[in-house]
Amino acid sequence: MKINHVSLSIFTWDNIPVTRYHSSAFTQPNSNLGLLRLRTDEGHEGHAFLGSASNPASMDGPQLIRWIAPKLIGANPLERERLHGQMLRQSRQVSYRCIGAADVALWDLAGKIAGLPVYALMGAQRSSIGAYASSQLLPDPSAYVEQALNYKNTGWRAYKIHPPTDPDTDIKVCEAVRKAVGDAYPLMLDATWSYDYYDALKVGLAIEQMGYKWYEDPLADEDIHSYAKLRHKLNIPILATEYPAGALDTYPIWITQGATDYLRGDIPNKGGLTTMLKTAHLAEAFHMNYEIHHSGNSLNNLANLHLALAIPNTTWFEVLLPDNAHRYGLAQEFRPDAQGMLHAPTGPGLGADIDFDLIKRKTEAVLQ
Ligand SMILES: [Mg+2]
Repeated sequence: MKINHVSLSIFTWDNIPVTRYHSSAFTQPNSNLGLLRLRTDEGHEGHAFLGSASNPASMDGPQLIRWIAPKLIGANPLERERLHGQMLRQSRQVSYRCIGAADVALWDLAGKIAGLPVYALMGAQRSSIGAYASSQLLPDPSAYVEQALNYKNTGWRAYKIHPPTDPDTDIKVCEAVRKAVGDAYPLMLDATWSYDYYDALKVGLAIEQMGYKWYEDPLADEDIHSYAKLRHKLNIPILATEYPAGALDTYPIWITQGATDYLRGDIPNKGGLTTMLKTAHLAEAFHMNYEIHHSGNSLNNLANLHLALAIPNTTWFEVLLPDNAHRYGLAQEFRPDAQGMLHAPTGPGLGADIDFDLIKRKTEAVLQ
C-alpha cells in the first residue's frame, strides 16, 4: 500500500472574533485553514486541518507541499515512525505546524485502514472525559466571574483563567472567581509566561492558598533555572512546557532539573500526535500528568480528544473560548454534553464529519 496523492485545499475563514489570551497578541478577524488529503492506491483517504485563527494555512502550506509531500508520496502510510522521524529532520525547512498536520492525517489514515477510531488504535483508556472552559483575556474580574459561573452551571468540569497578566490584578481576578464558584469547583491559572520570578512566587503562593489545581506557564517559556527555583517554593503543581517548539527530546531537561510538575503539548507546536503520545508515556514513567493543550482548529482538537481518551495521566480536555474563534470546517462539531463530558468518536480514524461542501465553496487554492 502506498500514498499516491497529497494535496492541501486552502479555504477561507472569515468573521473570526478578535480575541487575546495574553497582553501582547490578538487574533485576526480573517484567516484560512488547509484541508490536507493523503490518499492511498487502495482508496483510503486521511485528513488533517493545517492552520488556526492566528496562523493562516496559506503561510505554512507551501512549505508542506515543497518539503513534506515528497516524503509521503510513494511511502507506506503505516510506517508512521519512519515518516515522523524524516519529517522532524526537516524542521529547519518546515514548521512543526506542517509536521503536526501530516502526522494527524497519517493517524487518521491508519485508523481508516484498520477500521478503528484513533484512540482505540493508540490503546483506549476511557470512553469519555470532562471538558474545562479556558477563558480568553477579559476586561475585569466581574467578566471572569460571569463566565466561570456560566460554565459551572452548564456542567463543565473546571475553569481556567487567562488573566490580564498584571500580578496584583491577576490575584484579584483569581480571588473573585474562587469566591463566586465556591471552594469545591476546580480552577486553574495560566499566566502565559508573563511574570518575573518574584511576581511568579507572589501569585503562586496566593493561588495555592485559594486551592487552584495548577499554575500554568508563570515564567518565560524556556527559563528552566527559575522554574526549578519556583517549584521548590510552591506546593501547587506547576504546568510548563507548552510553548517551546520541538519534539520529544525537548522534555527531559524539564524533568531532570525538577522544573515542572506536569508536561504539556499540542499538535502544531510539537509535531503531532506521535510526539504527544510519546510525551504522555514519558510523563507516566515519572508519575507526572500530561495535560493536552488546545490545538488551534476543530480537526486538531478532535485529534486531541482521541489522545486524551488513550492515556491515563491527563485530567480534563481544554476548550478554548470563545468557541467560534477555534471551531470551523466540521459539519458536526463535537461538544460537551449536559454533564460536561466529551464522548469517544465512533467512526474509523478521527471519525470527523468534515464539511466538504463548505470547504469547496470557500477554497482559495489547491496546493499539490
Ligand atoms: Mg497555556
